[in-house]
Order: sequence, then C-alpha cells, then structure tokens
Amino acid sequence: MSTVTEQSSNVKIQVKDLHKSFGSNNVLKGIDMDVREGEVVCVIGPSGSGKSTLLRCLNKLEDITSGQVIVDGFDVTDPKVDINEVRRHVGMVFQHFNLFPHMTVAENIMLAPVELKKMSKSQARERALELLERVGLRDKANARPASLSGGQKQRVAIARALAMAPGIMLFDEATSALDPEMVGEVLQVIKELADSGMTMVLVTHEMGFAREVGDRVIFMADGVVCEQGDPEQLFGNPQQERTQDFLSKVL
Ligand code: ADP
Ligand code: MG
Repeated sequence: MSTVTEQSSNVKIQVKDLHKSFGSNNVLKGIDMDVREGEVVCVIGPSGSGKSTLLRCLNKLEDITSGQVIVDGFDVTDPKVDINEVRRHVGMVFQHFNLFPHMTVAENIMLAPVELKKMSKSQARERALELLERVGLRDKANARPASLSGGQKQRVAIARALAMAPGIMLFDEATSALDPEMVGEVLQVIKELADSGMTMVLVTHEMGFAREVGDRVIFMADGVVCEQGDPEQLFGNPQQERTQDFLSKVL
C-alpha cells in the first residue's frame, strides 16, 4: 500500500477505494479522488448521495470503514495520526455556522489557534483581525454572533476555519442555509480564496458557482463518483444518464 512518503508532492488529497457504512447502510461505495495543490473541486449530486459523508471522512469527522485517505501528507486511516494535527491542516465550513454565541467574533476565531497551536492571545487576536479584514468584517471583531446576519456569520466561520492556516479548505453547502440575498457575499469570499490558490473541495448546490470557480466537478450519486470532469464539459455535455437527469432538474 501507498504510504505518506509516496504521496506525490503536488497531490493534497488522495482517496482510494473509500467505503463508509453506517450500520448496514453502505453510504460510500468505493470512492477514488485526487485533488492537486491549488485545485478547486466542486462536488454535486442528489441529497443523500454521500457528499457530506465524503467530506467528513477527509478530516476524520467520520471513521472510515475501508480504503485509504491521505490528506496533506497525513494518512487519516492510521490510528496513530493525531486528529487535531489533521484538522490544523484542513479547515471546514458547514451549512450551519456553529459559532459560539457567548464569545465575540474575534474570540471565536482566536479559539483554535490559542488552544491547539499555542499561539499567544495577542498573536491570535492580530491574526483574527487580519482574517476579518479579508472577509470584510473588521468592524465586527467585538460583536456577538447573534447580532450578525447569516451571511456575516458564515464569513466569520470562514475566517475561523482559516485561522489555523490550513492547506486545504472543505465547504459543505456553505450557502444553503442563507437567505438568497446573502449568498453572493459568501460566494465572493469563497471565490477570493479559490483565486488565492487555496486547495478546496466544495460541496455545493450553486451550479453556476461550481461552473465558474471549479477546476473540476465531481457528480456523486448513490455513494459513487458517477462522472467527473471539467465544468464546461460536465455541465455542457454530461455523458452519464444520471448526470443528465440530475442536471435537468437543477439547472
Ligand atoms: P448528502 O450530503 O449527499 O446529502 P450524506 O452524506 O449526508 O449525503 O448522507 C448519505 C447517507 O448517509 C444518508 O442515507 C444518511 O442518512 C446517511 N448518514 C449520514 N450521516 C449519518 C450518521 N451519522 N449516522 C447514520 N447515517 C448517516
Ligand atoms: Mg450533505
């Protein structure tokens, strides 16, 4: 089997024959996926096809049933690998923002660096302010999450995920819970990250965005990668009947 040291230097995520079951429910049925450094891969597909489970296997939020996942040089399947170390390298943004309500915006962003990286509080605060600047919320540093709009909360969640300076960012339907008028501001932040060269895997329902920002689009159905390719090709000329059927419903 391949080991960490054999991972080609420009491959940031390597998934081989990944299976994941919940009891008798076989959710992922042999996923193979490579993501190169700086690549933006969008994952689309019907609800229940295993997209979230796939993302959660990448940063060890789920135990893997079988197969191999190597992320930023860490073999996630190796029980000796420190989960916190993996998560320092992989930032994740969810549909629901999960900000701590009793902390200010800046404190939410400072939490992980202070707790995991042992950054000093003043360093972590400086970093938090830089990140807030980047997502256009520098003036909200001392606000409580409850006073923010959904779009602002999600931008804070992105800043928080970036606080550990991850090499990879995972987004799981980051705009699905937002009111329509707030989707654009969050997509803009995600696009800027993509343009900055961040390696990203985005599960999204925003087909226009996937087409615009994705270097590659993966269509998942029923726990397998049904089809993948260049966005223009996948959206413009899908080869598989299931892909055609799905796209005819969402486009
Ligand atoms: P998607 O994100 O594509 O909608 P999910 O990965 O969330 O799909 O779910 C795929 C399947 O896995 C669903 O049948 C779901 O019920 C099941 N599943 C997901 N998480 C769990 C869990 N923690 N326990 C049991 N079943 C789960
Ligand atoms: Mg999901």
